[in-house]
Amino acid sequence: MSGVTFNRNRVKLKKLLGIRARLALLAVMLVAPLMLDRVRTLENSRATQIAQAADGYANLTRHAAETQREVVSSVETMLKSAAYIRASGGVARSCELLRASLPTVLPWIRSIMFVSRDGLVQCSTLNVQVGLDLSDRDYFKKAQDTRGFVFSDYLFGKTNGRPMMMAAYPVAAINPEQDAVVVAGINIDWLSQIMGNLGGQPGMSAVLVDSTGVVIAAPKDHASLIGHSLDTIPLMAAIAEKALSYDEPSGSVSFTAADGAQRTLSFARIAGTQSRLIVSMDEAKVTAAINREIRTAYLQLGFVCLFVLLGALVGAERLVIHPIGLMTGMARRFGEGDWSARVAKQKLPAEFVPLARAFNAMAAQLSQRERELVASNDRLTVMASIDALSGLANRRGFQSRLDFEWMKAQQYDCALSLLMIDVDHFKLYNDTYGHPEGDACLTRIGATLAGIAADTMGFAGRYGGEEFCLLLPNTDAPHALAIGETVRTAILGLAVPHCTSGHGIVTVSVGVASTRPNDVHTPGDLIEAADAALYAAKRGGRNAVVEHGFVQRLDEAGMALAS
Ligand code: GH3
Ligand code: MG
Ligand code: MG
Repeated sequence: MSGVTFNRNRVKLKKLLGIRARLALLAVMLVAPLMLDRVRTLENSRATQIAQAADGYANLTRHAAETQREVVSSVETMLKSAAYIRASGGVARSCELLRASLPTVLPWIRSIMFVSRDGLVQCSTLNVQVGLDLSDRDYFKKAQDTRGFVFSDYLFGKTNGRPMMMAAYPVAAINPEQDAVVVAGINIDWLSQIMGNLGGQPGMSAVLVDSTGVVIAAPKDHASLIGHSLDTIPLMAAIAEKALSYDEPSGSVSFTAADGAQRTLSFARIAGTQSRLIVSMDEAKVTAAINREIRTAYLQLGFVCLFVLLGALVGAERLVIHPIGLMTGMARRFGEGDWSARVAKQKLPAEFVPLARAFNAMAAQLSQRERELVASNDRLTVMASIDALSGLANRRGFQSRLDFEWMKAQQYDCALSLLMIDVDHFKLYNDTYGHPEGDACLTRIGATLAGIAADTMGFAGRYGGEEFCLLLPNTDAPHALAIGETVRTAILGLAVPHCTSGHGIVTVSVGVASTRPNDVHTPGDLIEAADAALYAAKRGGRNAVVEHGFVQRLDEAGMALAS
């Protein structure tokens, strides 16, 4: 049982590993190393491109932070210059000087003002600010306390309520005797403009935040964030938390945000301030283009593999399966007896041509042998139905001819007659003249009957021993009787001596039977009837022709009725 299962499995495996599958496997084996190498290269390129993108963003962040720092230091320089002016004289004089220097004020500085120790604006490049009280402002207090340059957080202007930032520098830093503070209003729009190069990149958000995490500046595409605390902006809270929790001046960190996106954060502190520049990158979005490129490359790879596979399959089909199919078809036709079946060589690949040629030669030889076999079979069939001694059909040959004529006569509703002819006292003949002489006598009788058969469109045969038959198609009883008489006289005419017979020569007795073949009777009935007539002829004294149904006695003078 297990042996059968094993064999079945082997057949299944063989089918599975057919020539197509093997060629496809071979193609895959050839392509696989190239594919793997290509996949490795693509994956490397993905990693390199992502690293390059991350580096690029980090550089961009540093560069933007550097630019912001330059802005801050230019503000610091301006404030220091103004502090020197203030330190050099009284409020009125220094105020004049300050206003005179207005055209040189940098575009990101909206105004510069001298503030008294109590926080009152004594002089400003913007008149409207004179008289304002800044004593409650943290940056003001801090500048007084630290006696150093202070950059404020995001705040709203006292005169117009617009968002702004302030920078303060105490004159005491130059002349400890003096307690005034130089303050500058910073145009935060300018800070956003500086960040322009950080905008418009897919998956990237860049913001400049103050120490509390409020957005001071952002590229145009994130302008709506300005003035808002990162904590209050969905998805940005985590970014703020990460960026603000680091004390280092710059760095980068990778983390999974609340929305599940993998983000890389680059941040840089703006020197001299509490502000930080934060650039956050959604890795998935940044790598989307790279991934798309890689996907296209994989797709191309897939197509190449598919083409190779299809090529292998089509190649196998055209070069192997089809030719085998052609030759199998030819062999099948040949096996079914179509001896003309040959393989068309021109339809085959060159490698199959010798095989096809050998196949065709074998087919030609086999068909030749088959023809010879058929011919020799025919000869044997003829020989098997011919009696060598008389040259007439033997009993087998006669029987098949009788069946055929019976059928034909039945079909055309014709008469069919049979003559059974027996040599009289032939035993005595043999005894008298010897067997060879008996054979010679039978040969002569056979030749005589063949002649009569040819004349009467009949069919003569040797029924057995010294008994002959003559089948007469399309011949009715009287006609058959006449032919029987012809036979009898023809044998008499041979005048073969037979001294032990009453006639002195060899004679024959003839039994005649005629019928119209029908379904009721059989060919055997016709033979029986002719035999019965022959028996009657023998009984009647031999050398006679007797028809079945009534006994006719024929003498030398002609036909006469007998009982
Ligand atoms: P009847 O007149 O009643 O027919 O007598 P018969 O002697 O002819 O008949 P019987 O049946 O007694 O003998 C037939 C003989 O024919 C016997 C046999 O030796 C002979 N015979 C049969 N076949 C051959 C043959 O092929 N060659 C020879 N030489 N003799 C044959
Ligand atoms: Mg006999
Ligand atoms: Mg006889």
